[in-house]
Amino acid sequence: MVDALEPQLESMIGGKPDGRPWQAYRKLLRDAGLRPTRPRMALGWMLFSKGNRHVTAEMLYEEAIEAKIPVSLATVYNTLNQFTEAGLLRQIGVDGARAYFDTNPSEHHHFFIQGDDELLDIPMSEPVLDRAPEPPEGYEIARIDVVVRLRRKQI
Ligand SMILES: [Zn+2]
Repeated sequence: MVDALEPQLESMIGGKPDGRPWQAYRKLLRDAGLRPTRPRMALGWMLFSKGNRHVTAEMLYEEAIEAKIPVSLATVYNTLNQFTEAGLLRQIGVDGARAYFDTNPSEHHHFFIQGDDELLDIPMSEPVLDRAPEPPEGYEIARIDVVVRLRRKQI
């Protein structure tokens, strides 16, 4: 049944994705403990075939619609959350209403450009924190996410 997936996805997306075989996406999902369903394969291809990127559920949903991939916004949300739980994506909260998902799950910090709503990686060579704060009694730091907000200089 899974073997029928490839031609279906190819016709949905309109050709083989960027020369990278579907096998790689199937393995990616399987290795993460996720069944390679059609929406997961299609959204996985959209997420991981374009290098490191930061997307919101709405951005990915719009791309899916343009690529004529029949998914609902709820499916996009669910898939992004499943990918995040499986460690394939990292979720970055920028404001209360919106979460960005990063295809690079390694630890790094971000610039957020206000107005453009764009998230950029801060190069690892740039110091962001001199020293981590001391956590309260009984806690340890799980991860540090720094979002540095930028705005254009007034001319
Ligand atoms: Zn990032």
